[in-house]
Order: sequence, then structure tokens, then C-alpha cells
Amino acid sequence: MTGMTSSERPLLNRRLAEFGTTIFAEMSALALRTGSINLGQGFPDTDGPEEVREAAVRAIREGRGNQYPPGPGVPELRTAIAAHQQRRYGLSYDPDTEVLVTAGATEAIAATLLALLEPGDEVVALEPYYDSYAACIAMAGGTRVPVTLRPDAEAGVFRLDLDELRAAVTPRTRLLLVNTPHNPTGTVLTRAELTAIAELAVERDLLVVTDEVYEHLVYEDAEHIPLATLPGMRGRTVTIGSAGKTFSFTGWKVGWVTSTPELVTAVRSTKQFLTYVASGPFQYAVAEALALPDAYFDGFRADLGRKRELLGEGLRAAGFQVYRPQGTYFITTDIAPLGEKDAHAFCRALPERCGVVAIPNSVFYDDPDAGRSQVRFAFCKKDDVLHEAADRLRRLAS
Ligand code: PMP
Ligand code: GLN
Repeated sequence: MTGMTSSERPLLNRRLAEFGTTIFAEMSALALRTGSINLGQGFPDTDGPEEVREAAVRAIREGRGNQYPPGPGVPELRTAIAAHQQRRYGLSYDPDTEVLVTAGATEAIAATLLALLEPGDEVVALEPYYDSYAACIAMAGGTRVPVTLRPDAEAGVFRLDLDELRAAVTPRTRLLLVNTPHNPTGTVLTRAELTAIAELAVERDLLVVTDEVYEHLVYEDAEHIPLATLPGMRGRTVTIGSAGKTFSFTGWKVGWVTSTPELVTAVRSTKQFLTYVASGPFQYAVAEALALPDAYFDGFRADLGRKRELLGEGLRAAGFQVYRPQGTYFITTDIAPLGEKDAHAFCRALPERCGVVAIPNSVFYDDPDAGRSQVRFAFCKKDDVLHEAADRLRRLAS
């Protein structure tokens, strides 16, 4: 035994010491243990399109992707990603030099932050943040600087304060980390907000990393505008996408990065030492999925839009204050009207009280007091499951 493993020294390095087990794993385990309806971790309870599943089976049978695919991803998928960005947004990317396939958006986030940050660099990120942002900034030795989306109770949405955003940028800021549509609040940034972010990035010469995994989960009251489409942004933006949410295959872990050749090369340099490659046969299937006709994307969105109403009504009837998401498949609520104060304690007790699991948003804030009474529910579930969950939650009102 060497001095390096002395019992005084914790095994987990100090950069990660504060993170523990992710809230999603904790709450999904709680749902399993208690047999509760799991509206916590964001995954659909219905798999994606049959033809896409068949495409994966076909790829496996035909021996496509069963061995290591090429490091940047199979050419069919890179071409399909580039075609998707062109068709939906008029953004043109060279599939050979400007597209990189990753093991889900999670790896794209990790590889991007590990590639671009030096220890001590500051990352300005929208808070509440998706949990892997804070962990990956920490792994890279960076410092996170939150800009908090504030609830506007009257409008029933969370909004970005642009003055706060501008004030958060310092000479040490390396990049802005944006997420729209935003998990967990459901906020979709407006063109005016995105324009202000773009102007700030240009003025201060910042890189921008934008997580757009919910790009297709946007409801009729909002529009998804990729940051890379705004003036001055194509050359300084790393855009992150994923098949998990759009096609309801979260277990396949196929994500991607689109950016300039220089930025993609930097991200690839890191990515090659994380997974090297992943999801071979699924890459071929996702290539086919991205080429599905608009009817698929419209139908998926319409279906989820309906579920948003269904769960929203159920939560209101149960006594929650409900923030109406414009995108994603999450609803953030406030539990204060139920006489509750602490989201984490509330979520731990919820399975026992009514057989439902949800996520406390407090874990997505640097200062947990900021989100102390916010709880997130996922509505990517079958209608009867949402009805049942709403019935159970009504017990809270009595
Ligand atoms: N970013 C956000 C905002 C998310 O909610 C998630 C969870 N799906 C991810 C990234 C990770 O995506 P993936 O499952 O493709 O790794
Ligand atoms: N993105 C999913 C959510 O926000 C969870 C993914 C995960 O478990 N890492 O619920």
C-alpha cells in the first residue's frame, strides 16, 4: 500500500466530491423500490417509431456497426445530421469536418467542456442547470458562474435576465453554456434573448456551447431557434443534439456536435479518449430516423403537447403552482401552495404519500435555496399513466 491510498484521503477526487449520485439515478431507484409511477427521470414509456427500431435490427443483422465504427461517427449518420440541420434551420455543415457523433449528448457536453476549458476558466451557464454541466465543468477544472432563470409567476414561465447575463461575463469567461429548450424549466429562449446572447458573445469574443437536445419538443406557443443561425454565431458555436429525446430511444445514446472544423477537431481530441466510439448499429438507425418526414416530428410534438395539458391540469388540480413549459417534456411546479417548503424532502416522501416520483429542482442550483420549493414532473408517459398519477397526486390536496 502506498501513502497515496492512506485512509485520510477520500477516494473520490475533490473536484467531484460535491456531486454524489445523480438525482435521476436516485429517484429512478426510489421509483423501482416503491413501485411508484416514475415522473422523475426524463424517459418515455413508449419506444420510438417501429421503422427506426427495425433499422437498428437490420443494421445488427447485416453486420453494420457491430465492430468499432469510425471515430467521428458513421458517414451515413454524419450526412443525415448535416442534412437535418440544413433542412430544419438552413445551417450548412460539412459532414466530414464539421459533425461529430458522440455517446449521447452527455458525452458531447463532457468532451466539449474538457476540450475547451483550462483550469480556472469561467463558464457562464443558465441555472437551474442540467446536472452534468456542473460536474463536467468541475472535471475540467473550470468555474461555473450561474445566471438564474427567474420564475415569472404571472406569466407562468421562467425568464432570463439579460442584464444579469451581461454582468456575469468577466475577463476570465471562456464560454457561455446555453440550453434551449431548457431542462428543467421548459423555457424556450426567444429570438430577442438569443440575439442578446449572440451580441454579447461577439462583443466579448466568447465561445458558445448550446445544448439543443429538446429542439423538436417545442409547443405551439414557442419556436426553437438554434443559436448558430444568429449573426456572428456559426463560427463560435458548438451545437449539441441527441436522438434520445427526439426519437424516444434514450437508451441508444446517440448524440452529436456540429461546429467549425477547428472546434469539432478539439472536441474529437477529447472524445476519442472518453468512449472512442459508441452505439454502432444505432448510428445507422438514427441516420434513417433523422430523414423521417415532417409528419413524424409534427405528430410527436402534437402528442406531447396534449400530454403537457393533461399533466398540467392534474398538477393544478392537486394544488401545485404550475409553470407552463414551452418546450421539453418537463413541468416545473412550486409546492409552496401545498404548504410544503423543501423539494428534496417532498420528493423523498412522495412515493410513500401517493406513489409518484418526481425530481427536486433544488439540486440544479448552486444555492439550493433558490429552487427550494420547485419540483419537476415528466409528462412523456402514456395517457393512462398520467391520469393515474394525477389521481394519486390529488390525495395531496386533501
Ligand atoms: N442535455 C439535457 C438538457 C438533457 O436533459 C439531457 C438528458 N437527456 C442530456 C443533455 C443528455 O442527453 P443524452 O441522453 O443524449 O446523453
Ligand atoms: N435528461 C434526463 C432528465 O433530465 C435524465 C438523463 C439522466 O438520467 N442522466 O431527466
